[in-house]
Amino acid sequence: MAEDTNSAKLEQKIKKLERELQSTSEAMKLSEKTLQAKVRFMSILHEEKFRQEQFLYMLLENSIDIMFLLDKDFKIIYCTKAYLEAYNIPHFEMIRERDFIDVITQHMGNENAQRLQVFLSEHQQSLKPEKVEFIVDQDDGKRNHYNIHLSPLLKDGVIDGYTILVHETTKIVKAMEEAEQANAAKSQFLAVISHEIRTPMNAVIGMSELALRETENPLVEEYLMDIRQAGNNLLSIINDVLDFSKIESGNLQIIDVPYEFSSLINDVLSVIRIHLTDKPIIFLTEIDSNIPRLLIGDAVRVRQILLNLLSNAVKYTQQGFVKINISHELIKNNNSDQKSLRLIFTVSDSGIGIKKSDQKKLFNTFVRLESKQNMEIEGTGLGLAITRSLCYAMGGDISVKSEYKKGSVFTAYVLQQTADLQPMAKLDNPERKKSLYYYEDPLILSSIGWTFKNLGVPASAAVNEEELLEKLSSDLWNYVFFPSECIAKVEKCIDILELNTIPVLLSSAAPGNILWNGLFASFPYYSVSIVNAFKGKKAVRSRDDKVSFCSPDYKILIVDDLEINLKIAQGLLAPYKMQITTSKNAPHAIELIKKNNFDLVLMDQMMPGMDGMEAIKVIRSLNGKKYQELPVIAMTANVFPGISKTFKASGFNDYLPKPIDAHRFNDFLERWIDKSRRQSVDLSEYTVLGMGIKGLDENKGMISCLHSSVVYRELLQLYCEDINYRLGFLQMAADENKNQQLKEETKTLLLSNLNIIQSACETIGATAFAKTADKLKTSAGWGDTLQLSGFIQELESFRKTMLKALLQ
Ligand code: ADP
Repeated sequence: MAEDTNSAKLEQKIKKLERELQSTSEAMKLSEKTLQAKVRFMSILHEEKFRQEQFLYMLLENSIDIMFLLDKDFKIIYCTKAYLEAYNIPHFEMIRERDFIDVITQHMGNENAQRLQVFLSEHQQSLKPEKVEFIVDQDDGKRNHYNIHLSPLLKDGVIDGYTILVHETTKIVKAMEEAEQANAAKSQFLAVISHEIRTPMNAVIGMSELALRETENPLVEEYLMDIRQAGNNLLSIINDVLDFSKIESGNLQIIDVPYEFSSLINDVLSVIRIHLTDKPIIFLTEIDSNIPRLLIGDAVRVRQILLNLLSNAVKYTQQGFVKINISHELIKNNNSDQKSLRLIFTVSDSGIGIKKSDQKKLFNTFVRLESKQNMEIEGTGLGLAITRSLCYAMGGDISVKSEYKKGSVFTAYVLQQTADLQPMAKLDNPERKKSLYYYEDPLILSSIGWTFKNLGVPASAAVNEEELLEKLSSDLWNYVFFPSECIAKVEKCIDILELNTIPVLLSSAAPGNILWNGLFASFPYYSVSIVNAFKGKKAVRSRDDKVSFCSPDYKILIVDDLEINLKIAQGLLAPYKMQITTSKNAPHAIELIKKNNFDLVLMDQMMPGMDGMEAIKVIRSLNGKKYQELPVIAMTANVFPGISKTFKASGFNDYLPKPIDAHRFNDFLERWIDKSRRQSVDLSEYTVLGMGIKGLDENKGMISCLHSSVVYRELLQLYCEDINYRLGFLQMAADENKNQQLKEETKTLLLSNLNIIQSACETIGATAFAKTADKLKTSAGWGDTLQLSGFIQELESFRKTMLKALLQ
């Protein structure tokens, strides 16, 4: 029994041992497989590493860049084939382990090698890559440019060696130089072209300006105005293109100087006024009177933004309205006492509008929408792109909202600094200026209402003449504003009711042409003109008629090589009654300066032979205080950023852009001619004589005399004398014709006298007489003088009435 039990236990043990043996052998098989796999894996890994190393090696070997591997003592461990090939080194072994600087000195020259040594020693502890630039003169005279990059090789965070990458940049540098040269050439080209185009434009615009003053023929006048307009358009296109290229090349400069905001607005409005004349468009203004009086910014560029937006609104609106709203927001500067200001311009119109899909493209360059429909409208598609760039340059932006065929609203803003926070238009005690106002157009009426509210004036509108008179008689008003049609009625009403109301005329005519002695506000009726009206001042004169003084003892020298430019400058200076001397070249001008005591010299900058720049150097180097103090102004057609500084640095006192802008000339002269040397041009000189002679349109006649009544009076006296003599001749011809046919020579003389009479009548504003004289010329051509006697009688009585009026 016990034996059985033992053998069973033994059997069990054997089985267990067998099982264990089996599992051990299985485990062994598995680990053998694992080992095999591991070995295989290791070999793959090795292969991969080898492959990668090979790859890296190939990469280095085939690199076109020169690369070195250095140990931490700058000994060469490796270099790329590019270096060996570039310097004809047959085998790497020739440089292995050699000092990097020693090797490279042969190719770089000592000076560069020294620089490189300094660079390496300065940066040998640097843990980041460093770069240095080198220029190496080659034996063949060429110059090569290199960038050398030094990068540390780190092992456990410690520098163990370096890589040096030598990158040749000759081609890039050359390309950059070429691009810069091309850019400089482009700017130079633009400057030359600008000068070349502006100079003849100077002649075109200036001469048409002068011819306009001379002509007595309305048709010629019309042609001349067209020429002047086309010239100005061309100039504005040239300016656009120049601006655009400046923006493109990043040369647009914003020149910040203090300026009066109201005069900028006045300027803009007078320009836009002219554009408005030939379309049924109502011009509306909402210009906040609280905008600070004196701002600091680039007034020329702000003006450009406003003019672009407004002229677009006028261009793309056939009828309805164009409205300008100007508001502001003060921005507090934390680190300065000066306050910044956001000026916001909103120009709305009831014009052709812009499709939604087109609105995004608007501010791109050369975009003109619906070019077919708008073919008649002049433009380059640059205006808005320039406007946006100008806004950006002044910290602002521009946006548009528009409804196709209904109208558009452009909103632009710019940042400016303030120099004086006083409001640009301000009334003392506005609450005591209770006003009644009437205007025939309801939109203008409401815009006047807006201005009164803005100024704090309690005001009430009348929607028609009846209501105006009714309200005038039923309440007490300090002021009543009304258009010229109502003058008689309003005056009568005030007279009869013995009211203390002060009448103020709302006049759309230019100030010089208003037949009214009382207060008036001139169009457009906005804060400044309304405040001026309240203050009893004449509204700011329209730029067209502005000759604010004369200086008969002032000696001025004009130097220009072109006769035509001299004539223009002389013509523009004529109303100032100065003593003008001219010279056609700089050496002659210098002689004149030595011999005379001029008060001011206007000198062309570009002249053949000695140019303005050389001339000013000579003048300033002459011995004597006179030569240092003499104001010399450069006249130039090439206006570029920083021009003022350039001219001042050369010794000029200022510059005057050509073509000389007749309208701005007065401001320029005011800057240079000392007040003590100016004689006032009596403003009464600029109001019409008011002689009330039938057949004489004084307003028209005054235009020929630059609105000067003094000149007009002289002209009329001259006319009376001259006409007397010509009438005598006409009578003689009529008498001769009674008995016989007109002799040929009498006919010729008759025709020429009628011609003179016609143009004289036209000049003084006697248009009907001019027309009759014209008709008589035709019949006289046929030898017919039948109607001559009637004409002689009428003209004689006209002359007598005029003489009487002139003597009073
Ligand atoms: P352009 O010299 O052609 O007027 P702009 O850049 O000033 O160039 O304007 C680009 C285009 O935008 C214009 O050609 C016109 O189609 C459109 N546009 C500009 N202003 C207005 C506007 N007030 N109303 C309708 N379309 C306008």
